Amino acid sequence: MEIYSHPIFDMACRQFDIVADRLQIPQDERARLKFPKRSLTVAVPIRRDDGSVTVFSGYRVQHHLTLGPTKGGMRYHPDVCLGEVAALAMWMSWKCALAGLPYGGAKGGVNCDPLKLSQGELERVTRRFTQELVQFIGPQIDIPAPDMGTNEQTMAWMMDTYSVHAGHSVPGVVTGKPVGLGGSLGRRESTGRGVGYLINRAMDTLEMDPAKCTAVIQGFGNVGSITAYSLAKYGVKITGVSDVSGGLYNPKGLDLFKLQEHLAKTRSLEGFGEGELVSNEQLLELPCDVLVPAALERQITGENASRLKCRILAEGANGPTTPDADLILDQRDDVFVIPDILCNAGGVIVSYFEWVQDLQSFFWTETEVMDRLFRILEGSFHQTLQLSRKEKISMRAAALTLGIKRVRDAKQMRGLFP
Ligand code: NAD
Repeated sequence: MEIYSHPIFDMACRQFDIVADRLQIPQDERARLKFPKRSLTVAVPIRRDDGSVTVFSGYRVQHHLTLGPTKGGMRYHPDVCLGEVAALAMWMSWKCALAGLPYGGAKGGVNCDPLKLSQGELERVTRRFTQELVQFIGPQIDIPAPDMGTNEQTMAWMMDTYSVHAGHSVPGVVTGKPVGLGGSLGRRESTGRGVGYLINRAMDTLEMDPAKCTAVIQGFGNVGSITAYSLAKYGVKITGVSDVSGGLYNPKGLDLFKLQEHLAKTRSLEGFGEGELVSNEQLLELPCDVLVPAALERQITGENASRLKCRILAEGANGPTTPDADLILDQRDDVFVIPDILCNAGGVIVSYFEWVQDLQSFFWTETEVMDRLFRILEGSFHQTLQLSRKEKISMRAAALTLGIKRVRDAKQMRGLFP
């Protein structure tokens, strides 16, 4: 389908085809599994603070509807386009199926730079975008959540705009809301804590002692920063971090509390004044036990994969590793990969818990949330590792195989209408 043509969508399709070849899925079945079920492109006009009008482009893609409503984040970033969103929606499908959640994948976003918009402008973008999506989303249709450039406040505005249309409060229309509006305890931290938990499990498997390990993290937003704190609790030393402004490296370990204070004041790592300045490209090649890409897609490529110096590559971001890089990593048995659809699944798992709590208007304690989260992650990690060892395939191939096979089986059970 031409409309989705984009390097990131092509990358998701290549990953799918590798697994489809292994599963011997016939060609005529592949298009049904691969291409999104529905997509919507909307114009989002808003009045700027200076009185002028800007029209942004907004997108929402629902990948498949076979297992329930669709679920996935909303991204605000200057690179957002239909093809990128379609790829992210496809990965969400395999991720939800791997974790056993009753959802298809979705993704959406607005092509804008949130750092260049005021709070008032962000609110108007979000409300107008939600208004355009009113017929397309809903607790039984498609449930957005935060992603890059969006947060709890964005979800609160979405929920409010949707509820105004419905004429009553509809907390189940989005997840990742503030706890005071029907959000779940633990949701904000869930992705990063899940990444930390899985890294700890990988260390167990590889017989590594967390207290003797170092970690480098690209992207210090929701996922990257919570991963850092979570790893620090296991005893891991954080030696490198970065954000869009660049990176910092201190082999003796960075002070995370000071870093947090600096970020609260400036919203950027720039000017922190501790550690050696490095570029985002250099950061990925620093010596460390654990490397966590937690920002954008396609950071680890055929060009730099052979130069990674980590023992564990834990994919906090979606799609950070290209298929060319995978070919190299598959040859290197010194890098253990925790693939994105497993590694960052904590976010959608707790989003699922939030949705269940909203539908029942019955809320859980943080301990209940975390216990259930770790139980699901443990099961997914165990199944992926077992399949990878049994079939002698990479962790990514194993995770994708489990996810794709579940969606395919469900489609076969339901049949093709009419
Ligand atoms: P965020 O907006 O909170 O943080 C993004 C971070 O990446 C920021 O520190 C930003 O400065 C940095 N960044 C942006 N462009 C960069 C660049 N070119 N180089 C280096 N750093 C850059 O976003 P987030 O929610 O933490 O999401 C990060 C990644 O994790 C995305 O790939 C997202 O899809 C994925 N993810 C997020 C969640 C979630 O619950 N938020 C769940 C699963 C996966």
